[in-house]
Amino acid sequence: MNSGFFVDVARARGTLPRRKEHSGCSWGKKMSLSHGRPMVSIPGPSVIPDRVLAAMHRPMPNIYEGDLVEVSYSVQDDLRKIARTEQPVYISVSNGHGAWEMAISNTLSRGDKVLVLESGTFAIGWGEMAEVSGVKTEILPGEDPYPVSPEALEERLKADLSREIAAVMVVQVDTATSVRNDIQAIRAAIDAANHPALLMVDCIASLGCEPYEHDEWGADITVAATQKGLMVPPGLGFVFASEKALLAHKRADLRTGYFDWEPRTNPEQHYKIYCGTPPIQHLWAMRESLDMLFEEGLENVWRRHRVLADAVRAAVDAWQAPAGLSFNIVDPQSRSNSVTTVLTGEIDASELRTIAESDAGVTLGVGLDEFADRAIRIGHMGHLNPPMILGTLGTIEAALTKMGSPIGSSGAAAAAAAIGAAL
Ligand SMILES: *Cc1c(COP(=O)(O)O)cnc(C)c1O
Repeated sequence: MNSGFFVDVARARGTLPRRKEHSGCSWGKKMSLSHGRPMVSIPGPSVIPDRVLAAMHRPMPNIYEGDLVEVSYSVQDDLRKIARTEQPVYISVSNGHGAWEMAISNTLSRGDKVLVLESGTFAIGWGEMAEVSGVKTEILPGEDPYPVSPEALEERLKADLSREIAAVMVVQVDTATSVRNDIQAIRAAIDAANHPALLMVDCIASLGCEPYEHDEWGADITVAATQKGLMVPPGLGFVFASEKALLAHKRADLRTGYFDWEPRTNPEQHYKIYCGTPPIQHLWAMRESLDMLFEEGLENVWRRHRVLADAVRAAVDAWQAPAGLSFNIVDPQSRSNSVTTVLTGEIDASELRTIAESDAGVTLGVGLDEFADRAIRIGHMGHLNPPMILGTLGTIEAALTKMGSPIGSSGAAAAAAAIGAAL
């Protein structure tokens, strides 16, 4: 008997799901090598570890007591260990922009002035948000493509005789330019000017990637989010506050109902910590990612990022050629360990990205703002190891080869050598 008959009958009765019809051959299909696990090498959202994905796959729990509440408190405690602070952390159920707003609204007042240290798109964006909230902003221009100048900051603050500037806003790593600013030097400049401004630092692209010490370095506000070095999907923002920031909070008149720290401060009322239902899946995910970071050891996590970033830099160094690729950040000391912005010269950046993705399975970051169509960004933050980074770099090289682009020498070989030297 032909079993196909019973299958047909069952389908006709609706008791079997419809299947897609396949001819079984490749006729009419374009060959592409981009099968297998795709590699997303963009500077956030970063690769989510399977352990973190699995940890999120749970039904809704009791939210009043038990596991979830314990996990929630433990996540707060352990986040403070990642930012190296004894001070409180406040959690916004939002992306990084929401955490920016939480920091602004809890510490500043209408008419205050903030000094925004330019080093790319992100501090400027944070400053614009402050401006919309009713704060006056002044931009301390950066000398492109250098990091923020602590000397220029000190000079500007010394000139602020009326102490009008309430806060200095800076990013540790600007994800557009891939510069890393020296936060300790910036703190030292504020101290040298003997200026009372709050130091507000955006570590969204660098927490868990670059060494950072909220307490020891004297940051007043540190902002972070889940989806970069912390290896969790976008959805939570973190704001760490110093004692001075908590004092500023008492006077701040930009406070809003949702972001206000005050009701979130009572540790007995778990529900209020999140100003509503806790972000359950994200808390389980954060618990797992924090466990992974502590199992590895935070200093080792920083070292791993440096070694893998060195491999990326070795590749770009080898590739460099007239009319070809080059570093955006000229000073090697100021290149970040979480993202590298590579200028593409006469090479078509968008064609390079398209070939890497559709023919070979690697998604690269786009150039932002002034870098649109003239740069690619390689994200190297979070859950990464040598086969992942070498895969990305080797694939970029393959795409450059296909395009007939000018390259100095093999970046893939240089990256392997750099990793070999660090093993
Ligand atoms: C990604 C990023 C942001 C913005 O975070 P969102 O989650 O996209 O709102 C802000 N600052 C820096 C430095 C970033 O890298």
